[in-house]
Amino acid sequence: MERIYLDYNATTPLRPEVRDAMMPYLTEAFGNGSSIHAYGREARTAIDTAREQVAALIGAKSPSEIVFTGSGTEADNHAIKGLTELQKSRGEGNHIITSAVEHHAVLHTCHYLEPRGFEITYLPVDRYGRVSVEQLRNAIRDTTVLISIMHVNNENGTIQPLAEICEIAQEHEIPLHTDAVQSVGKLAMDVQGFGVNLLSLSGHKIYAPKGIGVLYIRRGTRLANLVHGGAQERNRRAGSENVPAIVGLGVAAELAKQEQDTYAQRLAALTHRLREGLDTHIERLHYNGHPDHCAPGTLNVSLENVEGESLILRLDMEGICVSTGSACTSGSMEPSHVLAALGLPPRLAQGTVRFSLGRNTTEAEIDTVIATLPKVIQQMRTLYRGRF
Ligand SMILES: *Cc1c(COP(=O)(O)O)cnc(C)c1O
Repeated sequence: MERIYLDYNATTPLRPEVRDAMMPYLTEAFGNGSSIHAYGREARTAIDTAREQVAALIGAKSPSEIVFTGSGTEADNHAIKGLTELQKSRGEGNHIITSAVEHHAVLHTCHYLEPRGFEITYLPVDRYGRVSVEQLRNAIRDTTVLISIMHVNNENGTIQPLAEICEIAQEHEIPLHTDAVQSVGKLAMDVQGFGVNLLSLSGHKIYAPKGIGVLYIRRGTRLANLVHGGAQERNRRAGSENVPAIVGLGVAAELAKQEQDTYAQRLAALTHRLREGLDTHIERLHYNGHPDHCAPGTLNVSLENVEGESLILRLDMEGICVSTGSACTSGSMEPSHVLAALGLPPRLAQGTVRFSLGRNTTEAEIDTVIATLPKVIQQMRTLYRGRF
């Protein structure tokens, strides 16, 4: 059976161009970037090129502001722990503002800091997952040392008002971190224009391998290190560089920049097609992404009288691979923290599916989903009648 992959927010396949660029560094060009001989220089040159490619994608002023990390998660940890630890040790304050809908990489890092002398404000969101800039303004204290708000949500695609958030942060001279893992490649990013201090991105969400991420650190933003050891990454992240993955991420970043507009347009058209199809053939459904501020490619939908986990298994049997609220929470029946923050009643949260589209998604695949889903839902609703 042909499989249809609609879970690009969980991970994306390696692009062939990325794999080809990586191959030499998995084979003959195996040098350590810190060695001064020819092998080392070869690796170093490749890392430098990738750093320039990533800097160009997000509009960094200098490639030296790009630090390669082991994942998007590590970048989030480094940004939050590194900045707040230093600020607190200097007596500048211990208050962090974030939102209730952040990825676990941010949220659980904040949970970790709470019993360690930090106070955290988790901003609530509206029914589509957007924070209010007014509430952000009101949450600021003299002791606030960091604002960390994601750009695009991984579960429902909602875009936060990052420009306004950055303005408020700058007004109060508070450093701002944004998890842009789900936005880079789909929405334009200009860290200088926005005035972002710290930004996280991840390779495997933009068709590069897993296990590579980036933390952008604006020049002048001071952080404590997370990983200690050698002098790699200008003394900011120790450990011999993952050269093949870095090279892959560089090429993926360059392609993402070149193709951003057409990619976003294509995703928007496919997402629209899916939504129209669902609207035509399925009743009693609710969309959880923001009607006006949603990144293309993500469609998060709650279906009445359907149990999401079973729906996903049924669709899997049909070869359609989608996800419930969040890949990390599947396997447990608890609605995800994001759906909970939207205020969805548990009855609806239970029946939530996330479609996330990507490069290899075709109209024919969308049409197959539109032809399959109503049948499955009809069966499930008959089966579950009276149980909800
Ligand atoms: C996937 C994801 C991460 C984590 O990135 P990894 O490289 O998988 O650690 C962080 N934030 C968001 C919004 C994500 O979607």
